[in-house]
Amino acid sequence: MKIFAKETLSWKQLQFIKKNIPAQDFVTWLRGNYDYLMCYHAGRPIDVNSYYVNGFVPADFDKSVKRFEELLRSIPYTRPYDVQHVLDTYKGQTDRFIYFILDKDDFIDGAPHYLIYGSELLLSLAQNVASFIKDYLKTIGIPTIFHCSIPLDQIEDFELKGLHERIRCSSGDLDARLNQIFSNYSIIIEQSVSGTYIVGHDHPTVPLIDYHSYGSYKNNVAFCPVCAPAP
Ligand SMILES: [Zn+2]
Repeated sequence: MKIFAKETLSWKQLQFIKKNIPAQDFVTWLRGNYDYLMCYHAGRPIDVNSYYVNGFVPADFDKSVKRFEELLRSIPYTRPYDVQHVLDTYKGQTDRFIYFILDKDDFIDGAPHYLIYGSELLLSLAQNVASFIKDYLKTIGIPTIFHCSIPLDQIEDFELKGLHERIRCSSGDLDARLNQIFSNYSIIIEQSVSGTYIVGHDHPTVPLIDYHSYGSYKNNVAFCPVCAPAP
């Protein structure tokens, strides 16, 4: 079982691809030499274990709106609002696809809002109704990065193709190259992704920059019931 991952790609493999694998053969070569791609997904699940059981599924807008309405009731927020235009902007995207990235550090320094606020849809709903509502999202669930080794046969060719250009253009030492190749690279999968592909998860406790409120955020909960060390 071979996993193509930022964490394990070696200098030797990199140079091999660069020298010997032309762009048009790359995906075939990748599929022939690796079985899985290491991918990451972040959010604020209330029940981490449910992801291991049910996997990742696209957003169900009716459920998301219901959850949002429950949040508004709990605050309580009672002024009239209309969020249809928010749902319209996400239609055909988060209700259809599941988004992964290849570099888990991106959730720390590039897109920390998934760990701070959870789902992007809920964050947008909150921002559109009243900006302060998003602060309540920071109290729901536990910030979590899921580590998934996804079988390459679940991933379309065009999602993988871009890696070759990244490898070809990469320069500097190994660390610099791995960052250039894997950072800010997303993989989009339609329908659903099995929970059996989750190989681990973590709950980052490093300080995060909160770009949505010009402040910072720090999670202090390092363990959930799934990963808690034995007493
Ligand atoms: Zn955990």
